[in-house]
Formats: sequence, structure tokens, C-alpha cells
Amino acid sequence: ARRARLRTSRGPGRTADGHAVKLLLNIGSAEDLAPHDPEPASGGTSAEQTGGAEAGVGGTGAEGVGLFRTEFLFLDRRQPPSFEEQVTAYAEVFGRAEHVIVRTLDAGTDKPLPFLGLPQEQNPALGVRGLRVDRLLPEVLDTQLDAIAEAARRAGAEPWVMAPMVTTVGEASDFARRARAKGIAHVGVMVEVPAAALRAGRLLQEVDFLSIGTNDLAQYTFAADRQHSALADLLDPRQPALLELIALCAEAGRQAGKPVGVCGEAAGDPLLAPLLVGLGVTSLSMAAVCVPAVREALAGLTLDECRERARAALE
Ligand code: PEP
Ligand code: MG
Repeated sequence: ARRARLRTSRGPGRTADGHAVKLLLNIGSAEDLAPHDPEPASGGTSAEQTGGAEAGVGGTGAEGVGLFRTEFLFLDRRQPPSFEEQVTAYAEVFGRAEHVIVRTLDAGTDKPLPFLGLPQEQNPALGVRGLRVDRLLPEVLDTQLDAIAEAARRAGAEPWVMAPMVTTVGEASDFARRARAKGIAHVGVMVEVPAAALRAGRLLQEVDFLSIGTNDLAQYTFAADRQHSALADLLDPRQPALLELIALCAEAGRQAGKPVGVCGEAAGDPLLAPLLVGLGVTSLSMAAVCVPAVREALAGLTLDECRERARAALE
């Protein structure tokens, strides 16, 4: 039993018949990459317990970071973090993990940051948030992209970046152009708005990958505030309308030969993860604590069984 666990506790997640699915981490800072013992009572190897390279990122066996939420660096301040401060924070993360997808600032009137000085809005979730802040304050994104590129140079890493709350192909191509102009090779967008999911194929002509944020994609698909507990049934990621949008993105990725992952909470749920794999997503990004259960859930089903679950859920 020990050998079996060690074999499956690092590297890609795999279905019972060997179909590989990247397991990645959602983090807010380098501290989230501190060594983490996935099974404290397991008597695992020292590499698993210390989080060495052998044990994958943070000791979880994960292959990288699928979502580095950078807004934590910007919270509770009157002035934005300086270029140097940003470079230091990003370089620390690049130094600790092999494959890191940095999400550019996801702020706005629903996640207010005083220094942005955005006007009050009646419907913050539908207002100037995520990439839309760039319409009013383009220097914030330009500085951040410069800092990401510089941090990667200093750490000797290949940076991947993605933008939150992208709605149109025009927004995606503008973002990709600016990120590539800074020397960032891997540029993607989050799919959090149904309009973006519907245009997934076209988006993939502009960018290298998609990452589906199911928390926001559910909110905007069902017109239900993601914090509203009375609407939890609408926000359930098993809702077929949401699954259809995910399937559409995964199929677009398959046709383009480009990765399409999920980084919302659904990816870390062992009941949902196989279903998402059955829909065709190529990676799952989650909190470190979720990795062992998701790995185990995938290992217990063949790809066909995952597809069957997806078909049944869509029904
Ligand atoms: C999401 O919306 O699913 C997501 C991953 O982004 P956040 O939760 O940070 O809005
Ligand atoms: Mg989101």
C-alpha cells in the first residue's frame, strides 16, 4: 500500500487508466508554498514531508501554481506596491515553484483598493473590476507586467500570466500584445464571464491557454451573487449550464491543442474533479490541502468513467 501511495503522490494526477491531469496550486503569496505534509500520519518519505523538489510544490506533489492571486500584495494600502516590491514578491514565488501562472490584479469596486480611487458603483460585480480597471488606470497593469517579467528574469523562470474578468476577444488580444511586448512568453485569460466561454475558440487564437474561474463563471451565468448563501443551489458547479460552458472551453482547447484548466473551487472538490476531467479540462488548480483527495479521486476512475459522470451531469 505504501508503494502505491508513493507512486501516485507526486507528478501529474492520473485516472485509473493513466490519463494525465496537471494538479496545480492556488496561492496568494510565497508563504502558501511553505512545506505542507499531505498525510501527517502516513510515514511518507522525508522529501514528502519537507517539500523538497521530489515532493512537488509545497510538498503536495503538485506540478506548479495554477493561480497566483496577486491582489493580496495590494490590499490595505494607500499607495500601490512599488515596482521593486512587486519584483521581490513575484521572484520569491518563482524561486519556489517551477511552473507559476501569475494572475494580474483582480481588484475593483467589489474588491476595493483605496489607491485605485475608483468611483462607487451601484452594481460592483458588474462594474469596473479585474482587467476592466485597465480602462481607467492602464499604468497599474503595465507596471505589474514589467515587474512579473523582471522577477522571472531574476529568478531564471519562465513566467505565465493571465488576466481576470476578460469578456471580449479584443480585451484578450490587447492583454496578450502588452504581455508579450514585455517578453512574457505564455499568456492566457481567465474564463469567468459567459461571453468569454462562448468565444473560447476565438480567444485561443489570441492566447496560449484558458483558465476557468468557476466561482465567477457560476455567479455570472446564473445571475447569482457568489456570496449569497440563499442562492447556493444556483451556484452549484454541477448545474448543467455551467458544465456546458466548461465543455465548450475544453473542446476549444482540444481543437487548438492548448491547455484549458479550472482554477475555481470546483477543481479542488474530489466529487467534481473527475467530472471536470470528463468534460476535457487539462489541469485542476486548488488549495494545497485539496490535492491528496483530488489525486485519489482521479486514481479511482478511468477516463471513460469520468466522461460518463460528465454525460450524466449534463443530462
Ligand atoms: C474564480 O472566480 O473562480 C476564481 C478562481 O477567481 P477568484 O475566486 O479569485 O475570483
Ligand atoms: Mg474570479
